[in-house]
Amino acid sequence: MKALSKSRFKQGLECPNKLYFSNNKQVFHNVKNEDPFLQALASGGFQVEEYARLQYPGGVLIEDPEDRENYDYQDLANQTSELLKQENVVIYEAAFYIDDLFIRTDVLVKKGTHIQLIEVKAKSIDSSQPYNFVGKSKKIVSSWKPYLFDLAFQVYVAQCCLPDYTITPYLCLVDKTKSATVDGLNQFFRVSKDSNSRTGVTTTFKEVGQLGANILHQENLSEVVSKIHNGDYKYYDNLNFHEAVKLLSEIRMQNYYPNWPAQFSACKKCEFKKDDSEDGKKKQSGFEHCFKTQYHWTEQDFKKSNIFNVWDLKDPKLMQQGLLFKSQLTPEDIKYKEAAGKLDRTERQWLQIEKERDNDFTEFIDIEGLKAEMNTWVYPLHFIDFETSTVPLPFHTGRKPYEQIAFQFSHHIYHEDGRIEHANEYINTHRR
Ligand code: SF4
Repeated sequence: MKALSKSRFKQGLECPNKLYFSNNKQVFHNVKNEDPFLQALASGGFQVEEYARLQYPGGVLIEDPEDRENYDYQDLANQTSELLKQENVVIYEAAFYIDDLFIRTDVLVKKGTHIQLIEVKAKSIDSSQPYNFVGKSKKIVSSWKPYLFDLAFQVYVAQCCLPDYTITPYLCLVDKTKSATVDGLNQFFRVSKDSNSRTGVTTTFKEVGQLGANILHQENLSEVVSKIHNGDYKYYDNLNFHEAVKLLSEIRMQNYYPNWPAQFSACKKCEFKKDDSEDGKKKQSGFEHCFKTQYHWTEQDFKKSNIFNVWDLKDPKLMQQGLLFKSQLTPEDIKYKEAAGKLDRTERQWLQIEKERDNDFTEFIDIEGLKAEMNTWVYPLHFIDFETSTVPLPFHTGRKPYEQIAFQFSHHIYHEDGRIEHANEYINTHRR
């Protein structure tokens, strides 16, 4: 079955052309298709979701079907409708399906005709700050834009299915102002794979009281969501929320390339590029498709060094001026300036541009600067290498979410006579 889901909606907002490439995943390579298990481990998303469910106890989980190839949206939506017949109910992963739009909500709390729709994210927030989502300039804070539009999409689909209900949207986030009040909170939620290779979380606590105080924050975002629906906040200047839903739904269902104008920052980090993986060698590049279609790049053009890999280049105007290759750039285009005593950001960019343009593969080393710096060093020199971890659910009492914890270090001393001494080392091997 095909529908515009919330993840496709989010991807389509980044660039509508991406939706066409993900529709045709047999043809176009996606460099983000890495191991979802490792991604889940890295983000802590599964752990936080499981932890969040415990804050809304007694819920009924609408399980994914065993056969994911035959994912039946209507069946999942029917299960949700059945549960919503109860006066009061909590549902995890409630499903709504209407007009080729499909969503699942992390947590839904129904009381009579009022619904709390709660999207859980492992992203952190400082709940003491007043301008987390909408800045002083009254614009949505850009890093929250994808999450807020995702929430607006969920509310829109759920409201279309349930026109007689009032729906209040929330984001449930990890709160950096709070601390764990128990040891081993993280290890109570172990990420694992089941026999069908599906990622899940195994809990190891005996009773909820062992988890201590809640470290999540629930933020009511009704006002922001209704402004997105009204068109007061737009993702793109030329596309309001309802136009975005219509466009992305059409691309998803009719499977056409929308020819959405390429934009510097989106194209720079676009995932539809080729790489050296097996899949990358076999499949086509969406990036090449866009630049052939929109800029008529030839095979020769794709071999030239372009502006997308210039270190820390952010100027989208270069693209609008038709400056796409390093060979076209002048120092003025990157606002080149020299800084006394150090390598300025633009100096470094110009070095990269010049070297690539001139096929110069030698390294640049600021020998004089390096010597001047090293002459200020006082022996013995200490080299300390350490590894750290930042996790949403802390390992120890008194630690905040995403607080950096060093779990290993080594210490070497370099003496003036050339001797190297391995002075110390440590690794934490305790599970808690
Ligand atoms: S290359 Fe650019 S225009 Fe094409 S899909 Fe990626 S972001 Fe969009």
